[in-house]
Amino acid sequence: AMYQAKDGGKNTHHFFTDELKQAADERLKIETGLRDAVEKNELFLLYQPQIDITTGRLIGVEALVRWQHPNDGLIPPMKFIPMAEKNGLIDLVGEWVAATACRQLAIWTAQGHQVPRVSINVSPDQLRRTNVASLMRRLLSHYRLDPTRLLVELTEGALVENAERIQQMLRELKTLGVQLSIDDFGTGYSSLAYLRRLPLDELKIDKSFVADIGLNPDDRAIAQTILAMAHTRGFSVVAEGIETEEQ
Ligand code: MN
Repeated sequence: AMYQAKDGGKNTHHFFTDELKQAADERLKIETGLRDAVEKNELFLLYQPQIDITTGRLIGVEALVRWQHPNDGLIPPMKFIPMAEKNGLIDLVGEWVAATACRQLAIWTAQGHQVPRVSINVSPDQLRRTNVASLMRRLLSHYRLDPTRLLVELTEGALVENAERIQQMLRELKTLGVQLSIDDFGTGYSSLAYLRRLPLDELKIDKSFVADIGLNPDDRAIAQTILAMAHTRGFSVVAEGIETEEQ
């Protein structure tokens, strides 16, 4: 109830209700469950394909984490990722995701499948707290992968923060040869300064601009602007959430 009051702009009050109790119970359940989920192999990755629109060829996949809870079924990432970021479990989850994706890429390669690269989502909190560059270095060498086959996706929020620690980590990743990508581009912050400052390789147009691109001229204009800007900077562009011919 106290947090609810604080979120409501402070200097107010809130009673503890059944609803609040339920939400707190669920949070606690997810929190304790997530601690075991990694060890008990309840997390798994889905791989979303990225296609080169001119050739129709697969250029890579994005690893997306999911949680199959033994009793509660599939728990969507929106329910456990923000919580994991708050309580620090994201470090463990992030490490598991990176290791699993690298191992899968090595397996595909050994089996002769043409999967050029894999993208991994890294949380700003993970970047701030742990040495992501040294984790990636270990994984790349363990699975004997070319560093350019690994992309690290960051949200804009991670970059705008301008934390020295995060920038240092990005430079180290870049030195390793890992590619850097900006996720959900155009949704978070309007500052474009970081596009100049940081060693990026790819922008991902957020799916909210893609969904109605055939119908909405504004969305089309935004997508075109992002494309033009990315190309002048030498970045490649990935459009998220393509499902129809028109998109
Ligand atoms: Mn992503």
